[in-house]
Amino acid sequence: MKDSVLAVLVIVLFWAALPLLCAGSGGKKADAVTPTAFQSADPEPTDRFGGVQNADRPAQTVADAAPEAVPGFDAGFTLPVLQGSEIVQMDLHTYLTGVLLAEMPSSFADEARKAQAVASRTYCLRSSLHRRHEGAAVCVNSGCCQGWRDPAAAASEARARAEAAVAATDGLVIRYQGVLIDATFFACSGGQTESAAAVWGSDLPYLQPVESPGEEGAAHYSDETRISLEGFRAALEAQDADVSFPEALGGWVGQITYTPGGGVDTIELGGRPFSGTWLRKRFGLRSTAFTLELSAEEAVFTTKGYGHRVGMSQYGAQAMALAGSGFAEILKWYYQGVTVEAY
Ligand SMILES: [Zn+2]
Repeated sequence: MKDSVLAVLVIVLFWAALPLLCAGSGGKKADAVTPTAFQSADPEPTDRFGGVQNADRPAQTVADAAPEAVPGFDAGFTLPVLQGSEIVQMDLHTYLTGVLLAEMPSSFADEARKAQAVASRTYCLRSSLHRRHEGAAVCVNSGCCQGWRDPAAAASEARARAEAAVAATDGLVIRYQGVLIDATFFACSGGQTESAAAVWGSDLPYLQPVESPGEEGAAHYSDETRISLEGFRAALEAQDADVSFPEALGGWVGQITYTPGGGVDTIELGGRPFSGTWLRKRFGLRSTAFTLELSAEEAVFTTKGYGHRVGMSQYGAQAMALAGSGFAEILKWYYQGVTVEAY
């Protein structure tokens, strides 16, 4: 290490001090989200999960009784599913069982898995109304729609657990003011979820930041991404020709603004503004909730959470389930102001 170490910039994200809720919840219609909005999960699905701790979650009151499943609904609903270049007609029960197998470990608690089943059912039924794939309601790519694993090829115990979560919530969906919601989900929030507006630009009243304690044991709750200072600088220069980096590192970083959910909204680098979402994509960061340290050798991003952080946190759902919450309570926590009811 050189003895002439330059200034180290530490941009501290005052996580705990950030306002809990978005200032303006907006009044747009429930289905105003863009077609590209759904990112069910980032790549490396098997890498997303580890242990999870129980949580001290704020007490909540849910007046409604648990909704009752509608046995037979899923089996009687046929969904065109894009697999590779082929469209396969699949009943909803088989489809959702495969989604559960792909999107959530079978070791997760029953109520978390039921919440996932309802979110995934809502997502695909909404997709079948607003088709994003020609001739198909959904594809099996987790980076586009939802992941899917053939139940016939799964271990019998995992398959049975997935089937049980789907059957226990047969026909149940999530609605906001009567309209199926865009039931986005992700692996880990890092302690607080994000607003849809901050990530996709479309404000949705039910996709607002909420606290999500108990995720501390999750894989990638906190992570570091290191980039050589040269590479960092070159990437910014390639993106914006007007950036200008002074000799002293202390002058590289300017004003930072934060999203309501604690992510970096914009950060001034080399005198130019860059969005947190662009930086996340460009440098492969786990989330936009990051701090940045610059040294003579490298740029170090320290992230909290994993995923876009909008909607239901899967680790948060697990923490709630372990603390005794039912699936409807979990869903109503992460999707604000919604109802869970029969389709
Ligand atoms: Zn798709």
